[in-house]
Amino acid sequence: MSYTQKVLDQLVARNPGEPEFHQAAKEVLGSLELVVEQRPEIEKNGLLERLIEPERQIIFRVPWVDDNGIVRVNRGFRVQFNSAIGPYKGGLRFHPSVNLGIIKFLGFEQIFKNSLTGLPIGGGKGGSDFDPKGKSDREVMAFCQSFMNELYRHIGADVDVPAGDIGVGAREIGFLYGQYKKLTGNYESVLTGKGIPYGGSLARTQATGYGLVYFVNEMVKDAGKSLKGARVIVSGSGNVAIYAAEKVYQMGGTPIAMCDSTGWIYDKDGVDLDAVKQIKEVQRARLREYTSYRPNAEYHEGVGIWTVPCDIALPCATQNELHLEDAKTLVKNGCYAVAEGANMPTTPDAIDYLMANGILYSPGKASNAGGVATSALEMSQNAMRLSWTFDEVDEKLHGIMVNIYENCARAASNYGCAGNLMAGANIAGFEKVCNAMLAQGIV
Ligand code: NDP
Repeated sequence: MSYTQKVLDQLVARNPGEPEFHQAAKEVLGSLELVVEQRPEIEKNGLLERLIEPERQIIFRVPWVDDNGIVRVNRGFRVQFNSAIGPYKGGLRFHPSVNLGIIKFLGFEQIFKNSLTGLPIGGGKGGSDFDPKGKSDREVMAFCQSFMNELYRHIGADVDVPAGDIGVGAREIGFLYGQYKKLTGNYESVLTGKGIPYGGSLARTQATGYGLVYFVNEMVKDAGKSLKGARVIVSGSGNVAIYAAEKVYQMGGTPIAMCDSTGWIYDKDGVDLDAVKQIKEVQRARLREYTSYRPNAEYHEGVGIWTVPCDIALPCATQNELHLEDAKTLVKNGCYAVAEGANMPTTPDAIDYLMANGILYSPGKASNAGGVATSALEMSQNAMRLSWTFDEVDEKLHGIMVNIYENCARAASNYGCAGNLMAGANIAGFEKVCNAMLAQGIV
């Protein structure tokens, strides 16, 4: 049995009930067979065994009082996965589905994504099974303050720097940061995604979505195609999806379909992003409201967004949202590229099908790395007590995404699988972390 398979079997046996973590680890380790064969020091130093075991996992109680005076108790998590190349960095997710296995999958992915950015940041992730949906601002504040009452002792500008993710946007980051400052008296860069008046970076809000489309631009260009005139499905209607769709327009394409967890819209003339922003960012409402802004658009309850014929599909909502049947429909309808804005949105059998059918495919850890890269730029600006302009940050983001694409493509070629960006991303992300871990000894 190969070394990677042995480690994977061990991982599944020691971490029962964590299917998303197993899935993420299988994908990464599956790409590392050749690297491990060529570098025996990896096995000799138990590197993969150490890589799959988080350095630290913190689980804590988060009690808070709702608007009816009832005490609620949620569970908080922070998984500090790997600090070989820098302080832990990764978002916080507030969603009822959150459990340890989901946070571990996200933290594991984050190690390689952060490495791909070329910046000195390790991998971590956190969150809670708290659902901000339908809660008043006061309830969200009470929850965030209680969450930070425990988290603050585990984080710091040179230790662990959390950010947003699903359910954690500017409002939640503001409450979390306010409580951190109250508890520590410290105005340090301990969270990213902050508001502009208190240390946030311009272009951070846009970064993941814009970065995704910069990456896609490189990918399709290499294949002799163009975003100009492309019809694009962007699933989700949150932070990543909205700004991916905005950049698609800026680069000459047309986003024609978006969704939320209740339903999806198809607007053949191009989605009206002002309407989507108003519904999702201002009203915090359901996407079904969209037809009151655009009566000619279609709204469908439930799943089905991938049935819309398109050239490019950008899954930007959540994990495992694009299944084998969806991949088959996309291919049948002429889609030629799938690039992930969300983390692990495409199931393994769907990825296999897409690649077997010659579809350009990029994994989230490469194509959505613009968010964390810009978070690291926010950390740099905070440390220097400087604020760069929107254009300065955007230009750096663009350069980072072009670099990530080139590094992934090169790593794939070097290991005999040219064009396989999934393998390229895993190998390129791994090599830097691996070299740092080998240099630092058995710790
Ligand atoms: P948001 O909370 O801002 O938006 C998530 C969107 O996805 C919402 O529109 C939500 O709908 C929708 N959604 C959630 N679950 C489902 C589902 N099961 N089916 C259909 N739609 C669904 O999160 P983000 O945009 O920040 O994150 C989206 C993805 O991108 C996640 O995988 C995240 O980990 C990843 N990511 C985010 C980064 C960032 O900078 N924010 C960076 C890198 C990756 P509803 O409104 O109904 O909840």
